[in-house]
Amino acid sequence: MYDCIVIGAGIAGAACARKLAEEAGKKVLVIERRSHIGGNCYDVLDEYGILIHEYGPHIFHTGLEEVYEYLSRFTEWYPFGHEVVAKVGDKLIPVPFNLNTLHMVYDKEKADLLEKKLIEAYGEGSRVPIMKLRENDDPDIREIAQYVYENVFLKYTMKQWGQKPEEISPEVTGRVPVLISYDNRYFQDKYQGVPKDGFTPMFEHMLDHENIEVVLDTDCRDVLKFTGNEILFEGKPFEGDVIYTGALDELFDCKFGRLPYRSLDFHFEHYDEESYQGHSVVNYTVSEDYTRITEFKFLTGQKNTDGTTIVKEYPFAYTGAAGEIPYYAILNEENQALYGKYRALTAGLPKFHLLGRLAEYKYYNIDAMTKKAMELADAIMNQ
Ligand code: FAD
Ligand code: UDP
Repeated sequence: MYDCIVIGAGIAGAACARKLAEEAGKKVLVIERRSHIGGNCYDVLDEYGILIHEYGPHIFHTGLEEVYEYLSRFTEWYPFGHEVVAKVGDKLIPVPFNLNTLHMVYDKEKADLLEKKLIEAYGEGSRVPIMKLRENDDPDIREIAQYVYENVFLKYTMKQWGQKPEEISPEVTGRVPVLISYDNRYFQDKYQGVPKDGFTPMFEHMLDHENIEVVLDTDCRDVLKFTGNEILFEGKPFEGDVIYTGALDELFDCKFGRLPYRSLDFHFEHYDEESYQGHSVVNYTVSEDYTRITEFKFLTGQKNTDGTTIVKEYPFAYTGAAGEIPYYAILNEENQALYGKYRALTAGLPKFHLLGRLAEYKYYNIDAMTKKAMELADAIMNQ
């Protein structure tokens, strides 16, 4: 009855399902255990009529034309250059740390000198990871590096990861480099913003195809069995392609132990005020137990709201207890090796594909995830 089964209706599953259904005419079943589609990009009106992102703030940003064009088939955009500030003492300073930040932190004479040195060392417009900046031989540049390390990275990273910046993968802190420019935007990609009517309607349009059936509130393990070299669907061998976007350890009852993740507790608060903080995102880099506060109306562009809704993010170590969600894979060799052990268990499964932030145990943004899903669908079509 179905040619393909996609597990998970996040961006990975939705993009892959749509391409297979539309371009290869495959009958696709999408199984989602939550009661909604969209995965972690899901957004919804709260009880005050304010559009919130239930699983943390999401901004689409990309330089990939093909991804932008593909998703633009399913939504119009509310484009904006996303800016973040960090609360340091009584100041709100732009993050990533850039030349504007430099001039806010140092007096004019010193900032001019430091700016000149940074441009000489790295070139105007360059992006320098904090861990690399710290290695510079020039004591003046190392002084800036130390300031950024202490005031932007150390406490935030300790909260987010439970580890110091030097203890986590440089890939992670490298996502927010020091910018040798006056660009205050958090991302430098050509396209950035949110779907005009929200992420969830974008997913509804993606999954609205005659060849796609979506089943919610269903854990795939209730209908699919993964044995050594066979996949059973409702008790019978399934010969089609199976695309799995959930956590890999869960598929095998975590028999080698759980894959480590960081999770987040989201605390939503509503205020009968026009604005709570006047910014979409304020990072708390030297104080508080939460990492950041997002004020949704500044992120979504929603007008005519009564009051404002914010969310505070409190990170913690994922334990797998009921209700916890694994958000961030913790990238290191040991965890990669454990992931490899689980992956080996899938080697004999026919036409079985791992796709997504969870299934691949990687740190993907929406755009990279969409690209990967499009590539997998193409590979399946051409096999
Ligand atoms: P998910 O969105 O997690 O979807 C996986 C789906 O599979 C889920 O719906 C889950 O319920 C379902 N599932 C899992 N197991 C099963 C099962 N056994 N049976 C049935 N269904 C199952 N990226 C950006 O580009 N910009 C941002 O601003 C941004 N902000 C982020 C903020 C936070 C707090 C986090 C955690 C991530 C952020 N990301 C952002 C990354 C973005 O969320 C991911 O790139 C994207 O969600 C990955 O999509 P996915 O389909 O792989 O995973
Ligand atoms: N980071 C930080 N301070 C900041 C912003 C980021 O220390 O103000 C570090 C932190 O370790 C974080 C990483 O940089 O986990 C990546 O930040 P990003 O905003 O990309 O994280 P995400 O949006 O994926 O949670």
